[in-house]
This record gives sequence, structure tokens and C-alpha cells, in this order.
Amino acid sequence: MKAIAVFPGEKGSIHLADLPEPAITDVPGGRGVLVEVLRVGVDGTDKEINDAEYGAAPDGYDFLVTGHESFGRVLEVGPNVRDIEPGDYVVATVRRPGGSIYDRIGASDMTTDETYRERGINLLHGYLTERYVDDAEFVVKVPSALREVGVLLEPTSIVEKGIEQAYEIQRRLKVWRPERAAVVGAGTLGLLATLALRLRGLDVTTFARTAPPTLNSELVEALGARYLSTREVPLLEAAQRHGPFDAIFEATGASVVAFEAMEALGRNGVLVLTGISGGDREIEVPGDRIMLGFVLGNKVAVGSVNANRSYFESGVRDMALAEAQYPGWLGRLLTHPVQGLENYEEMIRLLTEEKDAIKVCVEVSGGG
Ligand code: BGC
Ligand code: ZN
Repeated sequence: MKAIAVFPGEKGSIHLADLPEPAITDVPGGRGVLVEVLRVGVDGTDKEINDAEYGAAPDGYDFLVTGHESFGRVLEVGPNVRDIEPGDYVVATVRRPGGSIYDRIGASDMTTDETYRERGINLLHGYLTERYVDDAEFVVKVPSALREVGVLLEPTSIVEKGIEQAYEIQRRLKVWRPERAAVVGAGTLGLLATLALRLRGLDVTTFARTAPPTLNSELVEALGARYLSTREVPLLEAAQRHGPFDAIFEATGASVVAFEAMEALGRNGVLVLTGISGGDREIEVPGDRIMLGFVLGNKVAVGSVNANRSYFESGVRDMALAEAQYPGWLGRLLTHPVQGLENYEEMIRLLTEEKDAIKVCVEVSGGG
């Protein structure tokens, strides 16, 4: 069976690998689900893995099959699987439980373990292959009405977690009624965060470097949100014009932006950081001003990574609502499809070089 893989630690090692066929009996307890992969999305994490900044191979392999944003159709289920049947469309979660107490309550996204296993990222093969098998516990059903956009569920789950964390934290305020939010970054995550916040009725300002008009700015405006280029209006200035921001969702991975967002955040506000800053850049920030603003403003900043099953389920609900409220919008994010696993070079080229790409995804099997 074909698969797209890298040799972790070896830069630019992306290649076509051969993987043994999975079987439902690979999962104990009759809980296996065998899935035909239809589409897989790729993101910055895949790029970093191919750049050897990240990623580890599973035990017994010198390669790692990449791809953690899956979408597929069930071929076969084990005898103890309820709720999922052959023919169902599904998306699998990414992280698998470790040993901490959080892992044991279904919240592996909150693990305190030093090393964690994530499919397509760390110590477990991913979904850029023809078929995979997993425990029904980690397989989330997607209604067929969402089949054209289901591949966006994994990135949506990241956004859902970040936003639910924010609301959960803000229960400290007893009467939190957020009105205005900012999203920093207008890539896939920034756009999906703009969507999720608009679906919750907030006035949203989304920031990116590039000056409008771009497809990204059009997509922001199609949601009734405001797109601003930070080159034209810096975050702090925008906060005075369009704030105060009760919530800021950061989705850039640039630490400079994270500290700017701390300053731009309104009183009692919450800042959610989701961007993964790969490097080890050192920057200068107005520390006193930021700290004073945080203390006198009772502000909160929280980091948020990964997503457990419950956030995938919230994602399904928001995606369905999105299709009802902004028909066709989600589909416009799928800008760069690549045909077949054989075209992995094209996939990585688009991922690294194509500035206009929002979501690059591989069409693994034509049989949709
Ligand atoms: C994935 C997350 C994962 C994180 C860190 C992201 O690209 O979407 O599921 O937890 O990388 O490995
Ligand atoms: Zn990702």
C-alpha cells in the first residue's frame, strides 16, 4: 500500500513508501474501524516535519507516514463497534492517549506527558496512505452533507478547542458577554477562527500582513467580519478603532504577534495562542507595559494545542451551521488539490512555495 513518508531528522526526505495493509484485527477488543482514505489536508506541521524540525518514526520503522488532517470512508468495522458502519464518512483524531490523568479521562490534548504520540506527527503513522485502521474511540462520523469539506474538520477542531477554552476560562467573570474579537492570522486556522467567532455572534476583526484584496480578505468579508492588514493598521491602533477586544485568537506562530496581542487585548479579555512557533527567535517587547496592562486589566492568556474527540464533534456542528449560514464558504478554503499520493513533490512544493494557497490537500482516492 502506498504512503507519503519522511525519514525524520533528514531534511527534504519526503518520498513514497510502502506500508503493509491494515486490518480491523490490528485493534484489540473488536473495536477496529478500517477506513479508505479519500482526502488529506496538509499544513505547517507537515512542512516542518519535512524540514526535519519535528516528527519521529514509529517503533520498528525508519520512516514516518505524514498527514494528520484526514477524511475517509469506512470499509469495515469490528464486532464491538456501534454507531459507525461501512459507508460512513469519518475523520480520525490525531493524538493518542498517554499515561497522565488527563489522558485517562479522554483529554489527551491536555496531557502532561513529556512525549506524546500523534498520528502523522510523532511516533505513529499518519493518514497520507490508502487505508488506515483505528479504534472507534478516535473515529468521528461526518454527515454526508459535509463530505466535500470534511477534510477541514481537524483544523476546525483546533479552533473549537481554543474558543471553548476561552469561554471556559471566562466563566471566572460570571457575566462574560463578549462583543468584539480579533483574529490574528488569516490562513486556514485564522479563517476558521473568524468563522467560529462569527457563528457565535461576535464582531470580528481579522488581521494578516498582506494588504487586501486577496482571497483571504474576501473570505473574511464574506463572513461579515473586517479584514485589516497589519502593514496598514497595527494591532494596537486597530484595538482603539474596533475594540476593545474581549477575545483575541492568535494563529500565526510569530511570537512578536503574541506579545502585541497581549497589549491589544481589552480589559478582562482572553488571548488564545495556537500558533506553533518553530524557531528560537529572541525578541524585544515592552515588558512593563504588557505586564501592567495584564494586572490592571485582569487579562488572561492561554496556550492551546491539539483537540480531543469532543472538539471534533463541536467542529462537525459548527461546519454544518456554517454550510447553512454561509453556504459554499468552507469549500472555498480548499484552494489547492493535488491528485494522488504519487504527486507528493507537488504537494510539498505547494505547501512551501504557493503563497496564495489556503488549504493544500491530496485527493487520495477518487471514489467519492
Ligand atoms: C496538529 C495538532 C498537533 C500539533 C502539535 C498541529 O499541526 O493539528 O493536532 O497537536 O500540530 O504536534
Ligand atoms: Zn495541523
